[in-house]
Amino acid sequence: MRRLFRVDRPMKPLNRTFATTCLAAAAALTAFTAAADGDRPLACTDFNAHVNGSWEARTELPPERARIGSFDQLRVANDRLLEAALQELVADPARQTSPGLKRLAAFYRSGMDTSTIETRGLRSLQPLLSRVDALTRETLPTVLGELARAQVDQPLALFVGTDAKDATRHVLTARQSGLGLPDRDDYFKDDDTTRRLKAGYRVYVRALMQASGQPLDDAALDAVLALETEIARAHMTPVQRRNPTATYNPHTLASLQALAPGFDWKAWVAAYVGADTRAPAGTVVLSQPDVARALAVQAQQAPLSAWRHYLRLRVLDDHAGTLPQVFEDASFAYRSGVIRGLQKPTPRVERVIALIGGNSGSAAMGQALGELYVSKAYSPVAQRRALQMVDDIRMAAGERIRKLPWMSEPTKTAALAKLSAMVAQIGAPQTWPQYEGLVIEPGDYTGNRLRANVWRTQERLADLGRPVDRTRWNTSANTVNAFAAGGNRIVFPAGILQPPFFDDKADDASNYGAIGTVIGHEITHHFDDRGRQYDAVGNLRDWWQPADAAAYKLRAERVAQLYSGYEPLPGVRINGHQMLGENISDFGGIHMAFDGLQIALQRQRQAGLPVPLVDGLTPEQRFFTANAIVWRSKMREQALLNQLRTGQHSPSRYRVLGPISHMPAFGTAFGCKAGDAMVAADPILIW
Ligand SMILES: [Zn+2]
Repeated sequence: MRRLFRVDRPMKPLNRTFATTCLAAAAALTAFTAAADGDRPLACTDFNAHVNGSWEARTELPPERARIGSFDQLRVANDRLLEAALQELVADPARQTSPGLKRLAAFYRSGMDTSTIETRGLRSLQPLLSRVDALTRETLPTVLGELARAQVDQPLALFVGTDAKDATRHVLTARQSGLGLPDRDDYFKDDDTTRRLKAGYRVYVRALMQASGQPLDDAALDAVLALETEIARAHMTPVQRRNPTATYNPHTLASLQALAPGFDWKAWVAAYVGADTRAPAGTVVLSQPDVARALAVQAQQAPLSAWRHYLRLRVLDDHAGTLPQVFEDASFAYRSGVIRGLQKPTPRVERVIALIGGNSGSAAMGQALGELYVSKAYSPVAQRRALQMVDDIRMAAGERIRKLPWMSEPTKTAALAKLSAMVAQIGAPQTWPQYEGLVIEPGDYTGNRLRANVWRTQERLADLGRPVDRTRWNTSANTVNAFAAGGNRIVFPAGILQPPFFDDKADDASNYGAIGTVIGHEITHHFDDRGRQYDAVGNLRDWWQPADAAAYKLRAERVAQLYSGYEPLPGVRINGHQMLGENISDFGGIHMAFDGLQIALQRQRQAGLPVPLVDGLTPEQRFFTANAIVWRSKMREQALLNQLRTGQHSPSRYRVLGPISHMPAFGTAFGCKAGDAMVAADPILIW
């Protein structure tokens, strides 16, 4: 699943009243002046500075934030709304009208009850930790399978995914994971940044182990790092991971055993699947076969004590957010402080909400948060208008495909079929999960998280026997993000259909420039360098004429080169290939949304309605202004550096400058001229 924006929360990435004033404030900034030649307006030299410069100058980054901007402010606003709703829910059991809301109230309450968390200590993790302490070479595969069932991180994360070559089928999938440093290269580099990260990680490991009653000496710590280093050696880089063919390696248990002998793969899968699935689990799709080989070798060669320490560390690291303060402090110091530069933890309530819902709202109780959110903050009017926008932008995308100068008719026909088969999920699901069998205990935050994880695994295992349901929601409705999901789907949760992305009361120009470009972005993901390799139903299948694929790659390479030229931090450039899918999606998305706006304006004119200037700006000027506003952000240097090294999204400023400077309609809207910085001499056109 590709997301619109990097999720920036103080969590481990395993696997996202101010607003109404935003547009008005920015509109004041954009008083467009027809300057004389030689004195070009700022809009034509740096549109981000033109719209966001004054906001950046007067906005201070709070010590408890890694980044602040439109996404972050909306997330905080949504969290405040949820906080008030959760307090109501806890105070008044009569409001707990569904199985989800009942459990949500108890889960939330356990998360805010810090004194009970202190008293309970590690009690709820003890069964897992005891399994790890008693580890032998023979039980290692089984213990890893059991930990995977509890969603504890390890060298190969095991989960139920969709079969890339038959998108109607669920299949067990194993993907590289299990490293404590942010990037696999960190284990091998020796520059200032990696030295700082390694030192911080060593402090973190020591602190967690010490707090859990098993302090490590230097030699034991070195052995854990050596084991991680051998796993990291087999990991793909972020660029290599973007190749869907290289990461699709289906194996039977027998062929897996032949590929990576020395590890009992059958026992590993059996422990993960448990006794409660109706489905055969005879196939595993390996994303990184080399990691399977490395795991099998290390299972034989690494000292058992290193495995015990490594797995204890993974359990503690995964659960640090639910444990007593000493664990939380250690986790904050490394994950938020060293990696992202925070000076203070984010408010506890935000951390509890994030933990209940998961990074992208896909954790077990995420849907219950969505249920609560939608009851407070979403209307049928918003749903209808968002649907209209998706229709307009999809129609515009179709027109653009028909007119593409570089694509032949057969590929166009297939691309249009894919576009019309795309499933849009908007707002929230029609029904909510019943959470049968999930036990949430008062006063057991750690245990609740653990049981929720196992429950979620069991739910997904039951999928192994069912066909994929392309209408099912896997994201919580309160999420401030949007997604291009497998099976040719696009997802816009109610949480992002809020100002400044979307406003019921705003004119079309600002809505199409904001959420409209997000809609275009997600549509384009299914046609980016990775997404274009999947067909109308989401199968990894080549539907391109070879000459068209070659023409596409030439254009994609130009996008990669453009972004590789940007230098967000002194000496640190964007990796144009690592970020390629996101950048292509920004490039395509803004064109589609702009054309979608023209369809909406046409409808308005045909209905005899005027299209007036708003705040002195034409609809086109407002469109681009609204787009720049959604990308405004300030970020800590460490967080930015981490994003550049490990992320897929370009820093916000370049998400404004890159696409717009290659869009002739922008120059027209603001009266820019050839030679201006915002007017590319030879614009890149992909979609
Ligand atoms: Zn994206």
